[in-house]
Amino acid sequence: MPPINSALAHAHHLLQQDMLGYLDTVELLTSENDTDDDTVLTIARTEVPRLIAALRGTVAAHRADHHGLCLGCPTTWIEGRLGREPWPCPTIERAQKFLKNPDSIYDAVPHERERAQPYARV
Ligand SMILES: [Zn+2]
Repeated sequence: MPPINSALAHAHHLLQQDMLGYLDTVELLTSENDTDDDTVLTIARTEVPRLIAALRGTVAAHRADHHGLCLGCPTTWIEGRLGREPWPCPTIERAQKFLKNPDSIYDAVPHERERAQPYARV
């Protein structure tokens, strides 16, 4: 795959920052330490459906075909042949892991802890 040019890399960076900024805002506005209950309820009612849709869309895209291979993952070299990931693929495994244990995201991407909890550091 050819390297992406700097304009496309910048666009990717902006998209990622936009999504992470949204998550930071929802997390902050639903934090029991920082926000009153009425605001938490209001934000939860509007944003939880969006978050569910995002995760549901990811799970729907990363479903198994009739061979048990993931339809959402790109083809890649597996044991010397081009093929697709077996299902559950790494995307589904990570989503499942973070659903069961949300704090495990900070083991996988430690820099996100400081981003998500800037005032909770000790
Ligand atoms: Zn997949």
